[in-house]
Amino acid sequence: MVCCMCSRSVQILSRQLKLSQLRVFHIAMDTVPPAASGVRSASSFLFDKAFVNGQWVTAKSGSVYQITNPSTGKTIGSVPDMNADDTQQAIEKANAAFLRWRETTAKERSLILRKWFDLTNQNKLELAKLLTAENGKPLKEAIGEINYAAGFIEWYAEEARRVYGDVIPPTAASKRMLVLKQPIGVAGMITPWNFPSAMITRKACAAIAAGCTVVLKPAEDTPFSALAMCQLAKEAGLPDGVLNVVTSSRDNAPSVGNTLCASPIIKKISFTGSTVTGKILLQQSASTVKKVSLELGGNAPFIVFDSADIEAAVQGTMVSKFRCSGQTCVCANKILVQEGVYERYVARLAEVMKQELRVGDGFDDSTTQGPLINSKAVDKVESIVEDAKKLGAGLLYGGKRSDKGENFFEPTLLSNVTVEMRCAKEEIFGPVAAVIKFKTEEEAVAIANSSNSGLAGYFYSQNLSQIWRVAEKLEVGLCGVNDGLISAIEAPFGGVKESGLGREGSKYGIDDYLEIKYVCIGGL
Ligand code: ADP
Repeated sequence: MVCCMCSRSVQILSRQLKLSQLRVFHIAMDTVPPAASGVRSASSFLFDKAFVNGQWVTAKSGSVYQITNPSTGKTIGSVPDMNADDTQQAIEKANAAFLRWRETTAKERSLILRKWFDLTNQNKLELAKLLTAENGKPLKEAIGEINYAAGFIEWYAEEARRVYGDVIPPTAASKRMLVLKQPIGVAGMITPWNFPSAMITRKACAAIAAGCTVVLKPAEDTPFSALAMCQLAKEAGLPDGVLNVVTSSRDNAPSVGNTLCASPIIKKISFTGSTVTGKILLQQSASTVKKVSLELGGNAPFIVFDSADIEAAVQGTMVSKFRCSGQTCVCANKILVQEGVYERYVARLAEVMKQELRVGDGFDDSTTQGPLINSKAVDKVESIVEDAKKLGAGLLYGGKRSDKGENFFEPTLLSNVTVEMRCAKEEIFGPVAAVIKFKTEEEAVAIANSSNSGLAGYFYSQNLSQIWRVAEKLEVGLCGVNDGLISAIEAPFGGVKESGLGREGSKYGIDDYLEIKYVCIGGL
């Protein structure tokens, strides 16, 4: 079986890739040990076409754009630069597939998803290498993400069979009143670059489990992980047209997005990305009164109270702040520390940052901090640090671009931060820990809630009354108490305020792809 897949992948590879692209990819991956014999290599998952109606396709215009490894700046390969026309075609294919897919049983959908999960697990390491090559995150983190991505496939394989309606006690003896749950239709999805695999499966597998079909645009920086997932879905037996991936450059993203939002065929938009883009998509979806799920930016407070276990709080800060080099929407953003433990916490955090954080290429075993996604991201982080320094913050560690390469920034610790500084007001999206000193619980909660965002929030306390009080008062969708890493497949993920609409993962995630229909049978 493995051998058979292996030779098939070689055929696919020779069909899909021009030799020159293969070579560049090998250059980009040349620090990686080759796959063990009999195992598919990472480059066998590198597809230079988009995936529509079960076929690998080019853009109608023939345009392509290049993807680079953010660590080395080397080209990995290219993918089609699709536009509104290509998107419209994918929508029509997805609609035709929906008419068939919605008729399948929950068990049929579940079995295909289960097989897709198994295939993802079998190819975990190679998918992770692809992810590190295009996103830059350390290979260990990339493997963690593939586990997380696979977990959503498995979860929705299970949830597919747990969609129940209701029987309502009738208002008259001659009536029967029922609630049916039905797939909403074709779903349009737009995903970000910071979790190139997990954001695909968290959305698409919920939709597919519910009986919907999907047209998905991955982030321009990280299309390869999305396309690799399509290959595995196809091998698992997912019918043509159920999952369609349309790739586009940043220039074409607005027209692809607008086509999805304005299409009367698309019944649902699901987006993860910046608040600015989310608001545009929400507006564009108004003309067709579409259902919209948005998972947008955060500005996570991370509060350390006087009663906290300081060692645990520092470890929690490390995982919450520095995962993916600080580029997750649930990363600790403004760290609030009570005056009684402030000095101790800051000193210990500086010590642990020096001991544990290593900047470098994601394929280097010792690396904990890969590059930021592109030079624009580095410019932003640099200007946020400069702003803080200018307004009086103390620089205890790092603070500048790293000599590892154009897209690297040193892990940075800023003390004496105030609420006027950009690092407290904006989502940093980089490896910068910004610490604010506070006096009272009320003050900390007020600062935490002063943002328009409300995605994640964390606090450390050993006072039980305070734990209940603060957990209830924080205006967030996800709350970590004495824990800095709280995302889980089984738990609902989503924000309040301008951080978004809807929930993903958990038993609630599939609801976003279901319509509730009330059926009243009279005259009985
Ligand atoms: P970031 O700045 O972190 O890249 P974005 O919200 O800009 O966050 O990007 C997230 C996703 O949204 C990506 O897939 C990107 O291509 C897409 N995107 C960006 N702008 C638009 C737009 N105007 N319409 C549709 N999609 C967009």
